[in-house]
This record gives sequence, C-alpha cells and structure tokens, in this order.
Amino acid sequence: MSGAIGPGSEGMNLEHIKTCVRCGLRYDWRRSSSASLKMTYCSHLCEAGDLGFTLEALLHAQPPAAEEVEASEPETAAI
Ligand SMILES: [Zn+2]
Repeated sequence: MSGAIGPGSEGMNLEHIKTCVRCGLRYDWRRSSSASLKMTYCSHLCEAGDLGFTLEALLHAQPPAAEEVEASEPETAAI
C-alpha cells in the first residue's frame, strides 16, 4: 500500500488512473490510445477487442457500396 507513484513522475495523478474494463490494467486515461473511450479502455486494442470495432473506425467508415456503383461503367462504347 506504499505509494507506487514516486517523485519525478510528473503528470501522473491518481485522479487520472483508470482500470481497463477489458484487461484490468491500471492506466492513465490521458495516455490511452483509445480514441473515444479513454476512460474505459487502456488502448484502442482493448476497445476494439471488447467492442469488435472502434468508434473512430465507425466515424471514418465509408459506405462500401459507393465504390461498386461508380465502377459499373459499360466497357463497350459502340458509336
Ligand atoms: Zn486494456
């Protein structure tokens, strides 16, 4: 129960320490690589592993059908 966080570790604040709901790791949520759920997961890997996707991926997701529609041009141009 001794202080695990010694002097010199500036920026480390117990108020910012969260426990990852997936792997149980304690982490500083400000350093989490999870884009949208820093307060919940230690990294985007845990976010993706738990959800099956990342919210960031959803936000940047492109509609899959758009490319196929544009590609459907007729190859024969008979004039
Ligand atoms: Zn984790």
